[in-house]
Amino acid sequence: MLELPCDFLEEMEKVLGDDYQLYLQLMEKEAFRGISLNRLKMSDINILPFEVKKCPFYKDGYYISDEKGIGNTPFHHAGAFYVQEPSAMSAVTLLDVREGEKILDLCAAPGGKSAQIASCLNGTGLIWSNEVVKNRAQILLSNFERMGIAKGVVSSCYPEVLCRKLEGYFDKVLVDAPCSGEGMFRKNPEAVKEWSREHVLSCAERQLSILRSAAHAVKDGGILVYSTCTFSYEENESVIRRFLEENTDFEMCDIGEHFGRKTELPCAVRITPVENGEGHFAAKLRKNGVSGKTEKADIKCAVPRELEDIFNEVPKGNYVLTGDKLYIMPDDLPDIKGLGVIRAGVLAGEFVKKRFEPSHALFMSAKADSIKRVLELDDDTVQAFLHGMEIDSDCTNGYTAVTYKGIITGYGKTSNGRLKNKYPKGLRLK
Ligand code: SAM
Repeated sequence: MLELPCDFLEEMEKVLGDDYQLYLQLMEKEAFRGISLNRLKMSDINILPFEVKKCPFYKDGYYISDEKGIGNTPFHHAGAFYVQEPSAMSAVTLLDVREGEKILDLCAAPGGKSAQIASCLNGTGLIWSNEVVKNRAQILLSNFERMGIAKGVVSSCYPEVLCRKLEGYFDKVLVDAPCSGEGMFRKNPEAVKEWSREHVLSCAERQLSILRSAAHAVKDGGILVYSTCTFSYEENESVIRRFLEENTDFEMCDIGEHFGRKTELPCAVRITPVENGEGHFAAKLRKNGVSGKTEKADIKCAVPRELEDIFNEVPKGNYVLTGDKLYIMPDDLPDIKGLGVIRAGVLAGEFVKKRFEPSHALFMSAKADSIKRVLELDDDTVQAFLHGMEIDSDCTNGYTAVTYKGIITGYGKTSNGRLKNKYPKGLRLK
């Protein structure tokens, strides 16, 4: 049985009131688990080979009963869904993403909420995902590639630097702040060991400081959503109150949703195991101030002739050659110098001894019908492919997208009836 700190339980009794005993009973049960659908790769949830049940916190969010083995399924490799705790999906619902918007996810790794935002943007606008911790930013990048996100930027930068430089650039900013993780106790008992009153209070100071930075990046009339996976007043209501006292150009914004439980603030929602989620808090604010302008980037274009053999219609964007690497960057990017950008757009490929080698990310972000050679695999051949094996191909010679149930999972190179496997070594099944 999970032993919870007395100080924490006292606070929970205040948060939950009459529901406190029910919470204690629920903590003896299994944690909630879920997935969010990635519409960039798949639109029909029913083709998944396991049972899912709709969750109330996000339009494309589902409960699953077991997580085991799910990461090894071809659908997961193809980026068709992201394994995510159901209540954690609520913050993006409050963000109310509209196609064409520019959105900053300031504390983004490993990338669950960025995946949701990219899915809602549906290949339009821009998702800029930042993660200050360098090695976590690499995990974020690999999830970006798996989800097939092309109109995006991944950076590893201090929030204060990034948001000052990108003053007023974003329609919406999400701060999914590092927190004491009280809503992670069932999933991650380590969080229980790290919990203390002092830790809660120090998290609150860090959260307020991140929010202060984030405020700069929001445009006039733009939206700022703050979320945590913790329950405490100090890290939630109190951070928002303190932020609003200091930043009079922001105001509370109606969340327009009917899930979770009410909080002390009309602009926020709290989800606990009583409401069928592990634990999340999310608040929505609107900016009314006058914001600055960002400089536009000066981007050089290169002609991507080599891609014409791969695509029926070559992807649109700014083609930028950096060293030997060719990138397809989103239009309308600001100046990205000095912002710790790890990836802007998609790595199209690399020139190796003057020959162009396309990248895995290029195929992952493409639609199957835009590609000239497509090899659809069955249940057996997809396993062979994900293990890195060579397989038969009935395509003509050349770079070939590999699909499973119509979703691109990677690519290879067809040569005389055989497909040379290009699935990245680090992603292969063992
Ligand atoms: N939004 C992510 C998702 O949905 O997958 C989860 C983000 S997690 C709750 C918070 C992130 O903030 C962590 O990746 C952590 O490394 C990062 N972080 C830690 N300290 C930070 C700081 N001072 N400023 C900004 N981010 C920080």
